[in-house]
Amino acid sequence: MPSNEMIKSTSLDEARRMMEICNACRYCEGYCAVFPAMELRREFTAPDLTYLANLCHNCRDCYYACQFAPPHEFAVNVPEIFADLRVQSYAAYAWPQSFAGLYRRAGTWAALALAGGLALVLVLAVLLQDAGIWAAAHTGEGAFYAVIPKNIMVGVAGAAGLFVLLSLLIGFMRFLKGAPAQAGLRPGLSALADVLTMENLKGGGAGCNFPGEKFSAERRWLHHFVMYGFFAAFAATTVAAFYDHVLGREAPYAYFSLPVILGTLGGTAMVVGCLGLMRQKLAEDKAPAYTDARPMEWGFIWLLLLTSATGLLLLAMRETTMMGVLLAAHLGVVLALFVTLPYGKFVHGVYRFAALIIFAAESKAHKQTKLKLIKSRRE
Ligand code: SF4
Ligand code: SF4
Repeated sequence: MPSNEMIKSTSLDEARRMMEICNACRYCEGYCAVFPAMELRREFTAPDLTYLANLCHNCRDCYYACQFAPPHEFAVNVPEIFADLRVQSYAAYAWPQSFAGLYRRAGTWAALALAGGLALVLVLAVLLQDAGIWAAAHTGEGAFYAVIPKNIMVGVAGAAGLFVLLSLLIGFMRFLKGAPAQAGLRPGLSALADVLTMENLKGGGAGCNFPGEKFSAERRWLHHFVMYGFFAAFAATTVAAFYDHVLGREAPYAYFSLPVILGTLGGTAMVVGCLGLMRQKLAEDKAPAYTDARPMEWGFIWLLLLTSATGLLLLAMRETTMMGVLLAAHLGVVLALFVTLPYGKFVHGVYRFAALIIFAAESKAHKQTKLKLIKSRRE
């Protein structure tokens, strides 16, 4: 059974040492949810520390504010040690457990998945279709299926989608099971509001210290572009599936139809967000960074960018003879993105949501205990 015992004791000891210093100092309590959650504790067990690490979103505000950061002998670097613990916790909660090592090789894994996805789609298209499809333009209802047969497209997407959903759900449940508090519906709604507004990325108002020491709201906006772009693209796929399987109307759809509008907006937002995040990443100060996580971060962001860019390119050129090649390339990249979702940076969103649920539950319980105490003192 996966558990916090899989996390290196040296990382836990280092995180515990830093949290004990922070708990005595408390200078950073307004920056994010980590510090109020830390203040509820006197001791830091492994579940406490992995929970706090997943509550952290690497804004680095506490690093630049810290009088004990390197070169001080205390060497307090909360963003770095929490990033280390986060990656280890992803592996600890991974399903199937035999895939846990993929987080450490996520860059290679993303590249292999991309190559494999492209190869699979191309091989299927070449084997199952007439060679002439590549030279011809295909237009009108069902044009995409002239290149990749419908049953293959639906079968591969369905199998990959189910596996990814199951894997993410099991990881999410494992995280909640190992967490230091019970989840519930109201904390879930509160966490959802936090995710949708990215409240914590405001850093108490001034923004993140990212990519350098200057406060900026840019990182929060770029994350909004990526997240809402992803939601819009997902909604476009869902509406298109409804049109196809329920209404019997096959893609491609008109430029001003709902799936195309959603897909265009989502794809454009993701391209803007990914390029902005890449620019920030190239310019980032390496001192507070956990560099072992970089291949995982780059792998995800590249796949997201390629997915959006090939989707937009396919839309722009779908009536030309390039459609077949672009469709195969787009589907190959989408497949690579899908199969890497549970074993790369994407899980940060899943576990951070779980950590925010625990945070909301703990805060509520703490408030109730405090109110009870005040009441009992008055009586
Ligand atoms: S990061 Fe530094 S300044 Fe902030 S609470 Fe911890 S010890 Fe204090
Ligand atoms: S890096 Fe940001 S989110 Fe993480 S603990 Fe420090 S202030 Fe909080």
